[in-house]
Amino acid sequence: MAFEGLQTRLQETIKKITGKGKVSEQDVKTMAREVRLALLEADVNFKVVRNFINEIKERAVGQEVMESLTPGQQVIKIVQEELTKLMGGEQSKIAISDRPPTVIMMSGLQGAGKTTTTGKLANLLRKQYNKKPLLVACDIYRPAAIKQLQTLGKQLDIPVFEMGTEVSPVEISKKAIEYAKEEHLDYVLIDTAGRLHIDGELMQELADVKEAVKPDEIFLVVDAMTGQDAVNVAENFNEQLDLTGVVLTKLDGDTRGGAALSIKAVTDKPIKFIGTGEKLDELEEFHPERMASRILGMGDVLTLIEKAQANIDEKQAKQLEEKMRTMSFTFDDFLEQMSQVRQMGPLEDLLAMIPGANKMKGMKNLQFDEKQLVHVEAIIQSMTKEERQDPSIMNASRKRRIAEGSGTSVSQVNRLLKQFNDMKKMMKQMTNMQKGKKGKGFQLPFM
Ligand code: GDP
Ligand code: MG
Repeated sequence: MAFEGLQTRLQETIKKITGKGKVSEQDVKTMAREVRLALLEADVNFKVVRNFINEIKERAVGQEVMESLTPGQQVIKIVQEELTKLMGGEQSKIAISDRPPTVIMMSGLQGAGKTTTTGKLANLLRKQYNKKPLLVACDIYRPAAIKQLQTLGKQLDIPVFEMGTEVSPVEISKKAIEYAKEEHLDYVLIDTAGRLHIDGELMQELADVKEAVKPDEIFLVVDAMTGQDAVNVAENFNEQLDLTGVVLTKLDGDTRGGAALSIKAVTDKPIKFIGTGEKLDELEEFHPERMASRILGMGDVLTLIEKAQANIDEKQAKQLEEKMRTMSFTFDDFLEQMSQVRQMGPLEDLLAMIPGANKMKGMKNLQFDEKQLVHVEAIIQSMTKEERQDPSIMNASRKRRIAEGSGTSVSQVNRLLKQFNDMKKMMKQMTNMQKGKKGKGFQLPFM
C-alpha cells in the first residue's frame, strides 16, 4: 500500500490534536514538527516540506483556528487542504482535442512503465470515456518492444500501429495520426523508447516527435518507487519537453509516497494518472483531494464507489446500497458480492479506502486472508436457505452440520458469523457517515 509510513505517522499526530477544545501555539508547533518528520521520512523533497510546514503553521495559529469551536478539527482540515494543494489541488483531466484524434506522447526512462501504461491508458479511455484509441509503436530500438505493445493491443482488443524498426519515430507518428483520422479513432497514444539514464539523443528524438506532431499531451511516466529520483527525472524531462502531465506508476510498491507529494510542487506539472498494479485495469485518474484524505485516514469513499460502479452493474449497486441501509443484507448477497468485490482488487486495498476502517472496532476480523475466501464460500454454500437469510437462527447443531458440510471447523463457522455481523455494523456506519457528510461539511469519520 502506498503512503504506509506517512499514513501511520500523520494519523498518530492528528489523533493527538483532534480532540482538543483549545489549540495553543505550542500544540501547533509540536504538530508541525511531527508532520515535518513524517514528510521527510516519506522522502518528500525538503524544500517542499519547508514550504508546506510554513504554510500550515501560519494558517494554524491564525483566526480560522483560534475562533473555531473545534480547533483540533480545524487544524486537520488545514493539513488536508494543504496536502491537496501540494498534490495539485483540483483534478487535472486528460486533454481532449476538438479536432480528433487527440495525440498523447508518452515519455520516460526505460522500465518506468511507459508501454504498460500506454495500454492501460487506452483501456481507461475506452472504458471510462467511451473513446476509440490507437496504440503507436515508436520504440524502434528493440523488436521486443513492438511485440510487447502488440501483445497488449491483442489482449485489450485495441489496434496497434507499427512500421517495424527501420522507419523513424517521427514518420511513424505522422503516419499513425493519418491512419487514426481515416479510421475515425479518437486518441493516438505514442509509446516511445526509453534509456536507462537521461541522454541527449533520447531527448532529441522526443523533441523531434513533439515538433512534428504537436501532441495535445506530453506525459512523463515515472516509477514512484524511485522516490526523489523520480522527481529529478521529472524536472529534467520537463525542462526539455515542457510536459503537460505526469503518470506515476508502481504506486502499489511505493510505501513512502515522496514522489507523489513532491512532483507537482517541484515541476508545477500535475500528476494525471497513477498506476496501482501490473494488471491492465490498474490505472486510476489522480484526485489530489481524495489522495490527501486517504493519507490522513479519512478514507476515499468516492474511489471505492467508482470501483464498485465499474465492476457491479448499476441496478445491483443500487439494490446493494438499499440493503446496506436497511440492514437486510444476507449471506446470499454476501456470496454474490464476494465474487464481484474480488474483481475490484485486493481486499486490503479496498479496506484502506473506507474512512477510518483501520480504526474501527471489529475491523481486524475483517482483514481475512484472500485464501480464506475459499473457506468462506464453502461455509456459506453449506448453509440452508433459511440460515443464509437469517443467521440468528444458528445454533450449535446447525453450526456443526455446516462445518462438516464445508470441510471446516465450528470455530471457522463462528468466526465467519462474527465477521458477517461486524460487516453489517460497519456498513451501517458507512452509510450513515455518508448521509451525515452531506449536511455537516467537514467531519472526520473515525471520531
Ligand atoms: P517501459 O520500459 O517504460 O515501457 O516499461 P514497461 O511498460 O515495459 O514496464 C516495466 C515493468 O513495470 C513491467 O514489468 C510492468 O508490468 C511493470 N509496471 C508498470 N506499471 C506498473 C504499476 O503501476 N505497478 C506495478 N506493480 N508494476 C508496473
Ligand atoms: Mg516500453
